[in-house]
Amino acid sequence: MVSRVIPVDPFDLVIFGGTGDLARRKILPGLYRRFFDGQMPDEARIIGAARSEMDEAGYRDFVRDAIKEFSGKRNDPNMVSAFLEKLSYVAVDATGTDGWKDLAKTMRADVVKAYYFSVGPSLFGAIAERLHKYKIADDAARIVVEKPFGHDRESARALNATLAEHFDETQIYRIDHYLGKETVQNLMAVRFGNMLFEPLWNAQYVDHIQITVAETVGVGGRGEYYDRSGAMRDMVQNHLMQLLCLTAMEPPSKYDPDAVRDEKLKVIRALEPVEHSEIVRGQYKSKSESYLKDVENPESLTESYVAMKIRIANWRWNGTPFYLRTGKKMKARVSEIVVRFKEPPHSIFEEDTGQSANELTIRLQPNEGMDLTVTIKEPGPGGMRLIDVPLDMTFAEALGEEAADVPDAYERLIMDVIRGNQTLFMRGDEVEAAWAWTDPIIDGWTEREDRPFPYEPGSTGPEEALILMHRDGRRWRELRA
Ligand code: NAD
Repeated sequence: MVSRVIPVDPFDLVIFGGTGDLARRKILPGLYRRFFDGQMPDEARIIGAARSEMDEAGYRDFVRDAIKEFSGKRNDPNMVSAFLEKLSYVAVDATGTDGWKDLAKTMRADVVKAYYFSVGPSLFGAIAERLHKYKIADDAARIVVEKPFGHDRESARALNATLAEHFDETQIYRIDHYLGKETVQNLMAVRFGNMLFEPLWNAQYVDHIQITVAETVGVGGRGEYYDRSGAMRDMVQNHLMQLLCLTAMEPPSKYDPDAVRDEKLKVIRALEPVEHSEIVRGQYKSKSESYLKDVENPESLTESYVAMKIRIANWRWNGTPFYLRTGKKMKARVSEIVVRFKEPPHSIFEEDTGQSANELTIRLQPNEGMDLTVTIKEPGPGGMRLIDVPLDMTFAEALGEEAADVPDAYERLIMDVIRGNQTLFMRGDEVEAAWAWTDPIIDGWTEREDRPFPYEPGSTGPEEALILMHRDGRRWRELRA
């Protein structure tokens, strides 16, 4: 099965921060893959814009190397050369005057204009202002802003206000690359495109839901940034919150940007404040390695792990908790949502038949896909013994290799920007609401000077996180890569 590739309209895409790490690893190789697959029209152009003085040839060499390293099996020299023809480079100073007139001259009139702010958030305001001042962006232009979108509600609100001075909300694309993942969109397809799940998708039939984003890496070279942020700000406020919203939201009336985002916002607003006793924070620590060493801050109280129990105060979810956990240096790299259904109200079989509850797992990584455990009879003449077996829906197997080679989240989202589709981007009020829920939790930790619990690198997190579940007679799904 081959997926259909529909070319987008001609565009000029400017990447501010076009020489940075994100541009090199994700944005530029992603754009190349869209070109390779035929989604980019002949008239498309990509303009790198950054502080470094560099000529066009130098930038093309930089991009060629990035493609070689990060574009996977599509690295074909002829295709790469053809793609590089689309590239140019302008040196700009985001906070000064250099380069802006050159950039203005580079832009064409009758094409979609998009500006990717792949720079630190402190530059968002300066760039927005200059795009306006130098008349580089028109009323139909789009800007793409990276995370982190603020540090708390106040700063997110200030950032929204700054961007709003120069751009309408319909022009602002706040990226959360989790929303660009194939499985995340499939979550909506499964929920709202089938009759099978939605009637059961509520507190009457669902015992609880687990959302896990576990990484095996530590803080890497981002120690200083991470230590100011921590797992709550870096992962929960954005990625896990988005997964929670898509899992918990009511069916939107249509698949339309505001209809979907209105429903997500309602979920965030219905979140109950989390009890102090229902959150566990951790820091990885062993004899040979530790979070404190990695961030070079022996006094740090920042968490590299957090687990919590969340309640949503609405009709659908009253009584069904959501358990969230995310951490670094964990046993396996896994992102998944597990919907654990209730056990049948009465068993007609003998007590020790082995029957248990159904579980639907939506895997974002590794092996994007879903599986559903169902209870069947164990084959053979051993009597009525029951076993749980998975109905596996790994996309690679179900759809064939070609369809499993789906676009990376970034490339899909950039094409959505060009198409002018905001469905998979966060709206300003959504981001502020998510911070409004996170802020009191973080403030509580700061006031109490809470020290995170240590956990062994390569483990499943602190003991206390297991207890959080055990207290409710539940347990985390095993972390399996
Ligand atoms: P980086 O430090 O590698 O690159 C920064 C880029 O900004 C460079 O191209 C630099 O030339 C440019 N720049 C800096 N100051 C400038 C100025 N005054 N004028 C013009 N250009 C200037 O950063 P990065 O890792 O690519 O991250 C970019 C943004 O994306 C950040 O907001 C980051 O939080 C976010 N982000 C990055 C990643 C990642 O994997 N790298 C992931 C998620 C979000």
